[in-house]
Amino acid sequence: MSITLNFLGRDSGFGEQNNSAYYIDGDELIIIDCGYTVFNMIKKKFDLKEYSKITVIITHLHNDHAGSLGQLILYSWFVYHKKVNIVSNCLKIKEYLDITGTPKDAYDLLEDYKEIEFIKTEHVEHLDSYGFKISLGGKKILYTGDTRILDPFLPYVKEIDEFYIDVSRYGGAHIKFDDVVDKLFELKNMGIEIILMHMDDREYIESVSIEKEMDKLI
Ligand SMILES: [Zn+2]
Ligand SMILES: [Zn+2]
Repeated sequence: MSITLNFLGRDSGFGEQNNSAYYIDGDELIIIDCGYTVFNMIKKKFDLKEYSKITVIITHLHNDHAGSLGQLILYSWFVYHKKVNIVSNCLKIKEYLDITGTPKDAYDLLEDYKEIEFIKTEHVEHLDSYGFKISLGGKKILYTGDTRILDPFLPYVKEIDEFYIDVSRYGGAHIKFDDVVDKLFELKNMGIEIILMHMDDREYIESVSIEKEMDKLI
């Protein structure tokens, strides 16, 4: 058994590789968040010619989640003549793309996408932030995005296979790992695959072995 999403990075905002995941669904490349380190990684890792659809889900507009979104759209449009699909609940996503000079022709903002359900959460003041539930590859996935609380996600845990969760050693704008570790073990014992992400102190967090599939994760 292996997890569904692959990662481009699992670092916190000041780390080397912004937190970002991807999934390849036939000829569609799905990317979750596109922070400032992500564009270069996508360029190196994928040949965008091979995909008829490129879709980016954006959880919120911090730079480590959307900082190279405009660049990816420009690149895909001018080099490969492909529109990027954007899936986001962020109130200012359109404004963000406008002020970063992203041509309207180069992307589509999708209203509906694979029955994704966005889950509003609390992260920082003055920025609307979302996690979501989605089914990919036959698996029900719950993904927190950046969050300082677990509560909005708990009503969904009974119906999921995999839970991707933002954890931090120090807390603040993110869930403090020590505060939720017992809950995470409880969920793991229910048979849910727990995948930790956006880690500020990886050694500390990974010293508690919650994850089963360490080999696949970067
Ligand atoms: Zn972040
Ligand atoms: Zn954030």
